[in-house]
Amino acid sequence: MVQRQTLHFARALLPEGWQNEVSVRITDGLITSVESDCPATEGVEQYAIAIPGMPNLHSHAFQRAMAGLAEHGGGNSDNFWSWRELMYRLAAKIGPDELRIIAAMAQIEMLESGFTRVAEFHYVHHTANGARFSDIAEMSKAIFAAAGETGIGITHLPVFYAHSGFGGMPPADGQRRFTSDIDLFARLLESCRAAAKALPDATVGVAPHSLRAVTPAEICLLQELAGEAPIHIHIAEQVREVEDCQAALGSTPVQWLLDNANVSGQWCLVHATHVTEAEVTGVAQSEAVVGLCPITEANLGDGIFPAKDFVEAGGRFGIGSDSNVRIDMPEELRLLEYGQRLTHRSRNVLISQDCASTGRFLFRSAVTGGAQAVGVDAGLRPGAPADFVALDADALHLGRNELDSSLDQLIFAVGTRAIDRVWRRGQCVVIGGQHVQREQIEGEYRKMLTGLMA
Ligand SMILES: [Zn+2]
Repeated sequence: MVQRQTLHFARALLPEGWQNEVSVRITDGLITSVESDCPATEGVEQYAIAIPGMPNLHSHAFQRAMAGLAEHGGGNSDNFWSWRELMYRLAAKIGPDELRIIAAMAQIEMLESGFTRVAEFHYVHHTANGARFSDIAEMSKAIFAAAGETGIGITHLPVFYAHSGFGGMPPADGQRRFTSDIDLFARLLESCRAAAKALPDATVGVAPHSLRAVTPAEICLLQELAGEAPIHIHIAEQVREVEDCQAALGSTPVQWLLDNANVSGQWCLVHATHVTEAEVTGVAQSEAVVGLCPITEANLGDGIFPAKDFVEAGGRFGIGSDSNVRIDMPEELRLLEYGQRLTHRSRNVLISQDCASTGRFLFRSAVTGGAQAVGVDAGLRPGAPADFVALDADALHLGRNELDSSLDQLIFAVGTRAIDRVWRRGQCVVIGGQHVQREQIEGEYRKMLTGLMA
């Protein structure tokens, strides 16, 4: 049976900008028409302010379970690499059931914060001792099952991981759950593509983990396996990684990739924190999206991406919750801008000539870049999935004719408290700021976590 519905918003952020009295028609989860200056008719559901759902272009859902558990110790030896040890110990304990529950909890928090689709960069493929599950995609299926429960849109990114360092070094013990050769990976990918069909709009991309974990020859093969699908890679997150890459490949990681892979709009370069001026221009010209994860990058002490220069060069970016230490869409955007303010000692840095509001520029750019990276349409326009967010006008203290200030207030002042409802493919999954399944999934999550940490 065809499902039709109409929603009405007093204000809505459309691709062409803010409009009043907007009527949105939805058929089978897709937007079929958007009309402005169209007063509400009786019986139609009405809300105050609509903005598009935000794509979350980079997540490792299982890491949500260690959020807040790596914030002690200290000293010069406490860095990304010591954090990674703890992450490996956690990864070793997680089976398909645990992963499904943790991912569902993380996805609920994503939806509540305004993310409506997630690109899950998934590398825990095998059993704890490295043996294969009888169904090679068992762990990936746990991610799809979670998305089925929570309703979030999913772009699944099975990760190819083969080596512990540059030069094809053999994997370390803590990495045996992650590693595959190309043939095994091709089977995994096939199986993920079949499993994705169980959900209405799940897609599957390909993720070479990093230049540390994948050789140049393997990058070539993975590009072939990807076809037209999104390709995501971790790159230049750590100074040590840049130095190791220079020693092994004779070039910095981003430059090496630009010179040796067909980097295009199909690619998402996650982090790209440590880049030269030439790399900034090169990535912008390639039309690849840079996947910025400001909360995680701050938490891990990675460094600050030169976003001002990149935006001025016409570069595209989106945001990701990565380690999920906090899941908060407005906070990712706030921290992105604040990193630039602290670097340049000025205000309202990420902005463009056609957009006076920093909040709107950040939001609009991250929706567009994020949608490109996750390989789906986004925005309040016909043909796109009906994924959007209603803001609470009272929480935002809006006066009349101050529409741009709604995104400025959401990002810089009020945060997720202003998020009232969230729709995914036309289904209202968040009401009054809370996911409709939160109570049940949170209960399961707490019980499971107590067992896991025992
Ligand atoms: Zn990551």
